[in-house]
Amino acid sequence: MQNLHCAQIIDGKAVAQALLERVQRQVQVWSAQQLPAPGLTVVRVGDDPASGVYVAKKAKTAEQLGIRSSICHLPATVSQRALFETLDALNADTAVNAVLLQLPIARHLDTYASIARLTPEKDVDGFHPENLGLLMAGLEPTAPPCTPAGIMALLAHCGVPLAGANAVVIGRSMIVGKPVALMLLNQSATVSVCHSQTRDLAKITQQADVLISAVGVPGLITGEMIKPGAVVIDVGINRITEGERAGKLTGDVAFDSALSVCGQITPVPGGVGPMTIAMLMRNTARLYARQNGLSCDL
Ligand code: NDP
Repeated sequence: MQNLHCAQIIDGKAVAQALLERVQRQVQVWSAQQLPAPGLTVVRVGDDPASGVYVAKKAKTAEQLGIRSSICHLPATVSQRALFETLDALNADTAVNAVLLQLPIARHLDTYASIARLTPEKDVDGFHPENLGLLMAGLEPTAPPCTPAGIMALLAHCGVPLAGANAVVIGRSMIVGKPVALMLLNQSATVSVCHSQTRDLAKITQQADVLISAVGVPGLITGEMIKPGAVVIDVGINRITEGERAGKLTGDVAFDSALSVCGQITPVPGGVGPMTIAMLMRNTARLYARQNGLSCDL
């Protein structure tokens, strides 16, 4: 008999748009009270074209919502000391409420020390050790890491029960894998974290009620690796290099084979990606509210 099952596709773009509209309304409320607009500064080091696209998109989205944004573009050769001085100046600037250091930065610079140089109150990406420490303690920082927070918001939007669920996260980066694993654990999921050294990945993924892939390998997850009815969140962003879809984006999950097995799935593009940028805007508004003693229900 033909298998007629087809998963529900999670519309990340629509969920993100709804959040952006809420942020915009909140910024308008502050503006009507004659308060200054929240300020976001993105620090970009070097001329990596992909980073350039991301940074421009963040700045444009901020402007559309009424958030003041600026880009601080440093040369690829910037010294660690000069980068620290830039971050110190942004920490001290009262017109700047949120600072994002666009990653990756040049190899001669220390990523972790640079993030730690930011004041945690302006750390809009939530990667400062103090903010990651709050997650570790089971608490929610004002600005949690954007992509993991976006994933959790999608799961909440879809009504996915997490307490007691088997959640499998593939990838253990500071940006996605580890923080989302902590967030799932904080919601009482039973969490497994897989990586490049994991043995028999399929055996683990087949147990997952919630499967999150944040790797960057197209087609890594196929239908046979997915538990029937599972919720699949595909974080991967990969550029297709060959064939008729060359130049387009694809995720880590072989989408067509997954569709006939899982219950719900995020597409690439249009799934997690839009949530990341929406969470960045929400985090900016939250930091602004916190710094100014204002209420904010975002
Ligand atoms: P990293 O390269 O930092 O981490 C990738 C992780 O995948 C590592 O933990 C690595 O293991 C693991 N891995 C690599 N190969 C395998 C394999 N064959 N099997 C199992 N695990 C493997 O990437 P990021 O976390 O920064 O990003 C992951 C993906 O998500 C990328 O495609 C990126 O573009 C995308 N992304 C998307 C965002 C969005 O908004 N949608 C935001 C951020 C990232 P090990 O630690 O052992 O090396």
